[in-house]
Amino acid sequence: MASFDFIIIGSGALGTFHALHAARAGKRVLILEKDNRPVGATVRNFGQVVPSGLSGRWYHYGRRSLELYREIQQEYDITVRQNGSVYIASDADEWQLANELYDQRRADDYPCELWSKAQTLAKYPVLQPDYVQGALVFPEEVSVEPALMIHRLITYVTTKFPNVTYRNNTAVIGCESTSSGATVWLANGERFQAHKVLICNGSEFRLLYPELFAQSGLVVSKLQMMQTIPLPEVALPGNILTGLTIRRYESFADCPSFANLQTPEHLAELKKWGIHILFKQAPDGSIILGDSHEYATAAQTDDLGFDINEYINQLMIQEASRIVTFPVYRIQRTWAGFYAQTPQEIFEADLENIHIITGIGGKGMTSSAGFSEEKMSFLVE
Ligand SMILES: Cc1cc2nc3c(=O)[nH]c(=O)nc-3n(C[C@H](O)[C@H](O)[C@H](O)COP(=O)(O)OP(=O)(O)OC[C@H]3O[C@@H](n4cnc5c(N)ncnc54)[C@H](O)[C@@H]3O)c2cc1C
Repeated sequence: MASFDFIIIGSGALGTFHALHAARAGKRVLILEKDNRPVGATVRNFGQVVPSGLSGRWYHYGRRSLELYREIQQEYDITVRQNGSVYIASDADEWQLANELYDQRRADDYPCELWSKAQTLAKYPVLQPDYVQGALVFPEEVSVEPALMIHRLITYVTTKFPNVTYRNNTAVIGCESTSSGATVWLANGERFQAHKVLICNGSEFRLLYPELFAQSGLVVSKLQMMQTIPLPEVALPGNILTGLTIRRYESFADCPSFANLQTPEHLAELKKWGIHILFKQAPDGSIILGDSHEYATAAQTDDLGFDINEYINQLMIQEASRIVTFPVYRIQRTWAGFYAQTPQEIFEADLENIHIITGIGGKGMTSSAGFSEEKMSFLVE
């Protein structure tokens, strides 16, 4: 039976970054991915790497992730672009929160700027003047192309580190701890062993430990996303986050004024569907925009459905039209993404030599690289 130091199940952002750090520590690693290539949350997102939106230790993992993304990009093109992040405040309450976060981030030496309405409109003439109150800007933040990044990262890891083996089309259907490590097996009976197994299964809860996941408190969120046709006349560089994001992200929730924040009537229906509007321009000039949030427990994920709710898309297009002047309704494709989350920030379970790590929620592209570096530093001992 082939034997390794680590077997990592799942090659999304969490699994692959754990593999990278194990490989850097000189460990022999086997990555097993059930699909032909990863097609989960890691390829369906915006690719916004925005530590500015996170709080506590996740903010620090995000900052470390920025360094790691840049480091790797210098060696191999994993699609990292440093165009910064811009939070556009649309009313006095959001502007107050933007100012408070600005003070906090400056205090811990995280580069940021506050732009007046005139400055914001000068830099982003495609914004609707009536929407803009001002902007909070984090110039060092980066974005990646979600459809490409993980595939390039896997190529980078397996090319640079001969001690890493990657197998796709390889669903693991069983795992058990043994006296010397752990064994995993596939439907065809093939088995592998390692000192440690890491399960980074994203929102797949049926194949391994279904009872444990059903009791875990994990919840799956379904997000609707859209992408316009290429709009070469539009320049919208960076990660663009808007008023509803300021009302939603953890970093703003830590600000003193957040406790008094009220939801204005015109935002109530959007909030009901968990909508906040983000934009990310792809290299071909198309604009990715979203998103919405619907929830189901780990045992009931089918209830989220496989369909796209057109009402939700129309709500997002309407709100996006209030923010920007370009034709957001010229949509070329729309899709749903799913991620697992938990009230405990991340879900971790240790079953002797088997470690489950999932439920990183909406922060996985931002913080997985830094988080898994710290996690691996304990696991490799
Ligand atoms: C629409 C959307 C927008 C988002 N936007 C952002 C953003 O801009 N910035 C940000 O930071 N985060 C964002 N996120 C969150 C981010 O995408 C996730 O946090 C992250 O991708 C989760 O990575 P993961 O590796 O845990 O899961 P996944 O990407 O789902 O990967 C899990 C992998 O495990 C494999 N697997 C599962 N079980 C098995 C098994 N038994 N055997 C073999 N393989 C298995 C699956 O096939 C899958 O490839 C967004 C998410 C969505 C859905």
